Amino acid sequence: MSDDQIILPAASLDRRRALQLLGLTGVVAAASPLALAQTTPPAAPATPAAPPAPTAFVNGNGFYRQKIGDMTVIVLSDGTAPLAALLPTWGANPDRQAEFAATLAEYHVAATNTVNHFNPTIIETGKNRVLIDTGRGGTAGQTLANIRRAGIDPATIDTVFITHGHGDHIGGLTTAGQPTFPQARHVMGAAEFQFWTTQATPNASVQANLIGLRDRFTLIQPGAEIVPGLTAIASPGHTLNHLSVRAQSGNAGLLVFGDAAGHFLISLKHRGAYVGFDTDGALAARTRQRLFDQATTEGLWVTGYHFPFHALGHIRRMIGGAFEYEPTVWNWS
Ligand SMILES: [Zn+2]
Repeated sequence: MSDDQIILPAASLDRRRALQLLGLTGVVAAASPLALAQTTPPAAPATPAAPPAPTAFVNGNGFYRQKIGDMTVIVLSDGTAPLAALLPTWGANPDRQAEFAATLAEYHVAATNTVNHFNPTIIETGKNRVLIDTGRGGTAGQTLANIRRAGIDPATIDTVFITHGHGDHIGGLTTAGQPTFPQARHVMGAAEFQFWTTQATPNASVQANLIGLRDRFTLIQPGAEIVPGLTAIASPGHTLNHLSVRAQSGNAGLLVFGDAAGHFLISLKHRGAYVGFDTDGALAARTRQRLFDQATTEGLWVTGYHFPFHALGHIRRMIGGAFEYEPTVWNWS
């Protein structure tokens, strides 16, 4: 099609000239088949086109990156696992199943044939690049691939912090029997490490990822600094020595819950609710209450390991002692 084949009414010509001045003819062409028919093909550019944007690093490709203060926080997806039924695993109190089911229905959260999310997090402080938890590893784990998709060389991660010894958090520490993060100092709570590595028959994941990497680990106490700006905080209950991470940059703070937050809806809305995997359900519920209180009082950013990706937002206080998780508005860059 060429210009002389198109007969445009005068009004359309005026409109098109006006749009050209605004640089909007392409938008019109994309929006309307009629407009498309009235638009001439663009002339070949005089200079070569600029290289395409690095779409591989755009949020959504397995990671979500955001600034918090001067820190860069990158939530990584380790992928999802099928979950046939959300209850009773994610709200385990036997006498409250109807109450939990009613909440799922009220919020339109699927109770069956759904998925479980896993979200390790990287925090870049400017001095350190810290990975918190490592996903499942093996063929299911997507953390390593998504670190690369975020444009990060895994060899540049200088610190790996482990919240607790469950396989979906430590499994990514090794790949085909070798350390996945060879340059990283590995950090974990001393009591949590001790608990898992002194079992009579440690499971295969503990054997490979904790006992096998023992020499790489720095074992710390609750309240200790992981790197400047990141502090390990006691959050017992899910496991008895579980540690979460408090990150601070200027006035901006972030709580990386690990598994201390439980389920993004049931654990927040229902005081006293516990999760099937919690070692001590009552203690886990009390810890949750304390962390949610802290997050609302201090206005902290939060991320939950099993919250739905992108798993980054805030907690707000509701009437009657309940809380709600407010995911932050998605941003592509
Ligand atoms: Zn977990």
